[in-house]
Amino acid sequence: MRLAVLKERRAGETRVAATPETAKKLAALGCTVAIETGAGLAAGYPDQLYADAGAEIAPDAGSALFGAGIVLKVRAPLGTGEGPIDELALFHRGALLIGTLEALPNPGRAHALASVGVDACSMELLPRTTRAQSMDVLSSQANLAGYRAVIEGAAAFDRAFPMLMTAAGTIPAANAFVMGAGVAGLQAIATARRLGARVSATDVRPAAKEEIKSLGATYVGYEDEESRAAQTAGGYAKPMSAEFLAKQAEVVAAHIAKQDLVICTALVQGRRAPILVTAEMVASMKPGSVIVDIAADAGGNCALTQPGQVVVTDNGVTILGHTNWPGRIANAASALYARNLLTFLTTFWDKDAQAPKLPEDDDLVRGVTITRNGAVVHPGLA
Ligand code: NAD
Repeated sequence: MRLAVLKERRAGETRVAATPETAKKLAALGCTVAIETGAGLAAGYPDQLYADAGAEIAPDAGSALFGAGIVLKVRAPLGTGEGPIDELALFHRGALLIGTLEALPNPGRAHALASVGVDACSMELLPRTTRAQSMDVLSSQANLAGYRAVIEGAAAFDRAFPMLMTAAGTIPAANAFVMGAGVAGLQAIATARRLGARVSATDVRPAAKEEIKSLGATYVGYEDEESRAAQTAGGYAKPMSAEFLAKQAEVVAAHIAKQDLVICTALVQGRRAPILVTAEMVASMKPGSVIVDIAADAGGNCALTQPGQVVVTDNGVTILGHTNWPGRIANAASALYARNLLTFLTTFWDKDAQAPKLPEDDDLVRGVTITRNGAVVHPGLA
């Protein structure tokens, strides 16, 4: 079974879907691993490391994909008119594609994949169950995004995180406020605490309150009947009413005025990120404060965030609105992402056939499969 790993061509994507470590393990499963030349370069994995791991280095996408039965990607392959080459046109009919294909917000993608007969698994749709944890690309990438947000926030902040007592006097500890305490937010809390900041956090899901406290941060938030029912069966936050958001904003506004660093991570599945930091709140912050908005890919939690940009406001607040935060720590993010995909493949690997076998009645397979045998099959795309 030939397995191809392509170079990522979508704008700003620095990660790669297999590392030398996973390439070796994929080869041990019986795959011939073909890596498109330069695929790992932006993540710090040069071709030679893959070659040392037993992979074949293919000179271009077409030769990597030639005869490939499995294709690993970070983002969706480029279709007609989407970039310098039409990657999809080079796929083998019947190939299995595994990646973060962002299938639901881009329904045309699934139809394009079905039309070329590619069976596709969109890994961001994996159910968030205990069994899925080691394959959960959203968790592994959010974890690193949360860490990176604090590190970049600290670098943009021109004071110190820990209290520094020196002969010349004392520098106070920074106040950091994390908005949204899912996977990224909890890692941001832990990282900011390790750096010595005084950390507080908010969320709407009741379970998050205990998790915030268990990491040693203070919970700040508004709770009512609506927030007590704010978690969906899948574990995600529900979209909150305008009335709730207004009450939450009242509680948060006074707190934000005293913060040095605000890390925004709040997301609502399938929607624009909720605006939690208004322009008035930003105006109330001290000069030199930093807002790190890792919800920028979904529009951002701060009203003044410009996705993909760094903004410095008139009152001296820096807003980091970079997108693709996992891609800003590409080596580690690729290492975890590649292991997620390896675990998915090994879980559904038929040793005798030396090929993946994806049972249609398996809840994980059902969750991620968007196309099969030339048809779009995911219920979310029906
Ligand atoms: P997410 O990225 O969808 O959202 C980030 C956080 O923002 C969430 O905690 C959410 O509650 C919060 N949020 C949304 N609206 C908000 C608002 N108005 N104000 C404040 N906060 C708001 O979430 P995630 O990190 O992907 O986690 C989603 C769920 O999945 C959680 O319950 C988590 O525990 C669970 N999970 C389970 C597993 C597993 O068992 N396999 C793995 C990872 C996550």
